[in-house]
Amino acid sequence: MSNRVGIIGWRGMVGSVLIQRMQAENDFDGLDVTFFSTSQAGEPGPALGGAARPLQDALDVDTLREMDILVTCQGGDYTKKIHPQLRASGWTGYWIDAASALRMNAESTIVLDPVNRPVIQAALDRGDKDFIGGNCTVSLMLLAVHRLIEMNWVDWITSMTYQSASGAGAAQMKELVRQMAQIGERAGTAAADPQYPVLEVEQHVSDLLRSADLATDHFGAPLAASLIPWIDRAMDNGQTREEWKGQAEANKILALDPPLPIDGQCVRVGAMRCHSQGLTIKLKQDIPLTDIEAAVRESNPWVRVIPNEKSATLAGLTPAAVSGTLDIAIGRLRKMTLGPDYLTAFTVGDQLLWGAAEPVRRMLNIVLGRV
Ligand code: NAP
Repeated sequence: MSNRVGIIGWRGMVGSVLIQRMQAENDFDGLDVTFFSTSQAGEPGPALGGAARPLQDALDVDTLREMDILVTCQGGDYTKKIHPQLRASGWTGYWIDAASALRMNAESTIVLDPVNRPVIQAALDRGDKDFIGGNCTVSLMLLAVHRLIEMNWVDWITSMTYQSASGAGAAQMKELVRQMAQIGERAGTAAADPQYPVLEVEQHVSDLLRSADLATDHFGAPLAASLIPWIDRAMDNGQTREEWKGQAEANKILALDPPLPIDGQCVRVGAMRCHSQGLTIKLKQDIPLTDIEAAVRESNPWVRVIPNEKSATLAGLTPAAVSGTLDIAIGRLRKMTLGPDYLTAFTVGDQLLWGAAEPVRRMLNIVLGRV
């Protein structure tokens, strides 16, 4: 196929990671890429995929229509505005999107190819043209445990999440670091003094967290030295929308029928860009732990099974260890005292890589017939 590719949202947080990954994998070689912007049309674009050219207007449907493939990390509002106009104009190109807006549409496929390549292929064979990256938490969970589901070993899953600031956006990430700095300014000297009473150090921190001095414009609450057990908006059934996505998106990604029950609590913590999840997996029968570990280990090339030992866990199963890598770390694997058919696990993945940019990058290569 021809390969005129338009990229929108390339200078945002997810888009920047996408561009880094495309450069690292030489994806720009042989591609005719046009970069778009909603705010900087006419300014010089990046020299990637050919010579640097002026940025095109991302709101100009006529220019967008000239592309065979559009890749967007611009956000849901942009998708809701532009995608219907493009389709109404008769554009039949591929739309590959990191935003959630189109995910649950019947015409859309949620892309996570190490997990659902057959589902993606079936959609391509049908002539479908909308391919959407999944929710970061859902994608990271499935990359860790999809093999157990494929083996038909799983009755249900609960996922208790520890989600990073990056999932909320660039401004929120900066706000977390600002909060940390403010805590350091308020209590750092006292904390460094071995003679200073620890409860007074704690009081300095707690006073700041409850004061109007702390930067909370974006999160609406302290995140540093605290956590926020609410992500996204409320649903009518008491779940948050982030929690609702767990079952809805995982089942769509895997095309499961009947659906696999998945539910849990989604919590924002002070990690930078890795989401972690504590999983409880109800097995259909007593599968030996060695079989489970072997199945997980072989499920895809990115999974790293971490032994259930303190030193290995501290070295390899933390956001600090996994951040910036494509690894899907899974450890703390053991049968629970609840019974031999209850498995627990802890998994960590970078939510800007496998959680956002990487499935989109790989889908572009699938559409291009490169993989
Ligand atoms: P973002 O960083 O806010 O960037 C979005 C757009 O903001 C940019 O493409 C750019 O568009 C504009 N912008 C304005 N000022 C900017 C500045 N100083 N630096 C960079 N860009 C600036 O958005 P994002 O967090 O990457 O999220 C994009 C989409 O991906 C959203 O739909 C989000 O839901 C989805 N997503 C995000 C994550 C995540 O972890 N954050 C995960 C999965 C999916 P112009 O060039 O047009 O001005």
